[in-house]
Amino acid sequence: MTARIRPDLSAIPAYVAGRSQPDLVKLASNETTFGPLPSVVKAIAEQTELINRYPDNANTELRAAIAAYVGVTPDRVAVGCGSVALCQELVLITCDNPADEVVFAWRSFEAYPIVTRVGNATAVQVPLTADHTHDLTAMAAAITEHTKLIFVCNPNNPTGTLVGEAELTAFLDAVPEHILIVLDEAYFEYVRREDRTNGVELGRGRPNVVVLRTFSKAYGLAGLRVGYAVGEPEIITALLKVHVPFSVNRLAQAAAVASLEVESELLERTDHVVAERDRMAAALRAAGYEVSASEANFVWLPLGAASAAFGEASAAAGVLVRPYGTDGVRVTAGTAAENDLFLAFASAPETVATFLS
Ligand SMILES: *Cc1c(COP(=O)(O)O)cnc(C)c1O
Repeated sequence: MTARIRPDLSAIPAYVAGRSQPDLVKLASNETTFGPLPSVVKAIAEQTELINRYPDNANTELRAAIAAYVGVTPDRVAVGCGSVALCQELVLITCDNPADEVVFAWRSFEAYPIVTRVGNATAVQVPLTADHTHDLTAMAAAITEHTKLIFVCNPNNPTGTLVGEAELTAFLDAVPEHILIVLDEAYFEYVRREDRTNGVELGRGRPNVVVLRTFSKAYGLAGLRVGYAVGEPEIITALLKVHVPFSVNRLAQAAAVASLEVESELLERTDHVVAERDRMAAALRAAGYEVSASEANFVWLPLGAASAAFGEASAAAGVLVRPYGTDGVRVTAGTAAENDLFLAFASAPETVATFLS
């Protein structure tokens, strides 16, 4: 007889990562295509001499650096093994009953339903609007006496859409103060719209707001796993309790600190990515595709039932993209050459005839 495990786990899907295949161009995981800067590589190399020693479990230096960077005190910063770990930890600190509800848009980041169910809570998914944006009015209406946590992914992964300041502040004002609101800003550095918000600023004076950011996207450290949360000290203390000890390793901590020191160089790269994103969106629209308004480092093609077949055809043409069920396909903005390869496939007459008729 095998040991007894939680029966509900059989109904929870494992996280499916974007495909990788060495000989194909990968535009499937929203990674930065540029490699790490030399000073970051150096910081990592120095730490390799010390890997017989545990990392600093309190992440003291990194939390101080992040705090200085975003303009808060270090007791308002928690770090995690990627911000996806913090998503899970936020469920753990708010939900302790299967009836507890976690509200988020759908489609949104596919980790949300997983961490909710792993945390033994109930997911409440609120459909996006017709233009693939968070429906904050419907999300506010979905709040019940059981609601414990709300994720707002802004810009939204995988659709790229942004909710602007007026709408977002109205939502934050409408949510009762005992419910924790997570503003997941994984793509913050790619947002260019005038009415963009900064979750850290929005959170000042709103003790029920937590902001998530990550070093995986604009900072190019996806392989090292480090993200952070900014919020009230009580929330940060709770996060430290459920944190898996030492899960942010020594190399990750040093690389993140070094990245903040070359922040302006790393952020300069986002201008290139944003220009490519907009070029891709324009070319795809010209070819006849519907493309949602993206403020992130990817574009979203709502191809419906054709999504999986489009993903296969793109892979056959040498480019891995990310199909999501029967909703659409997400394509990361890579280098100009990589994007050109994808655009050549997407705008080829055969592709257009197959997928846009
Ligand atoms: C990529 C991403 C994250 C975090 O990724 P980590 O690598 O775990 O830091 C968090 N939220 C969203 C919406 C993302 O797309």
